[in-house]
Amino acid sequence: MPATRNIALVAHDNMKQPLLEWVTEHREQIAQHTLYATGTTGNMISTRLGLEIEKLISGPLGGDQQIGAMIAEGKIDTLVFFWDPLEAQPHDPDIKALLRLAAVWNIPVACNRATADLLVTSSLFSSSFKRVAPDYEAYKSGRPN
Ligand code: PGA
Repeated sequence: MPATRNIALVAHDNMKQPLLEWVTEHREQIAQHTLYATGTTGNMISTRLGLEIEKLISGPLGGDQQIGAMIAEGKIDTLVFFWDPLEAQPHDPDIKALLRLAAVWNIPVACNRATADLLVTSSLFSSSFKRVAPDYEAYKSGRPN
């Protein structure tokens, strides 16, 4: 993985404040990377913290799917997704799909503050490291093994 990451930030409404606090605490490290976010999360981070961030579509309108597609295309290599464990979401299938694609492509994923803290303070966070790249050649060519 390259030293400069392409990080996607997503937070459900009840989790936006915790994400904001996490970004604020680690602002210096996070600002060194390229940031993407679903619409409302991205607006909040850029307005409140003045960080440069590429805003995608709002989650319930397709933003989670957009990030999933970018992971599959290799355009996003790290996911910080503070999903809400206590409230049902209308776009639950999209959330599952996003988490599934992050697992399929073996990218680092943090779904809560503790994991996000560990991720961003890892010595590997801002240095290149070898991510075991999944080999899906058989699938791509239509020959699942
Ligand atoms: P939002 O989307 O940042 O547009 O609120 C987050 C989500 O619900 O996935």
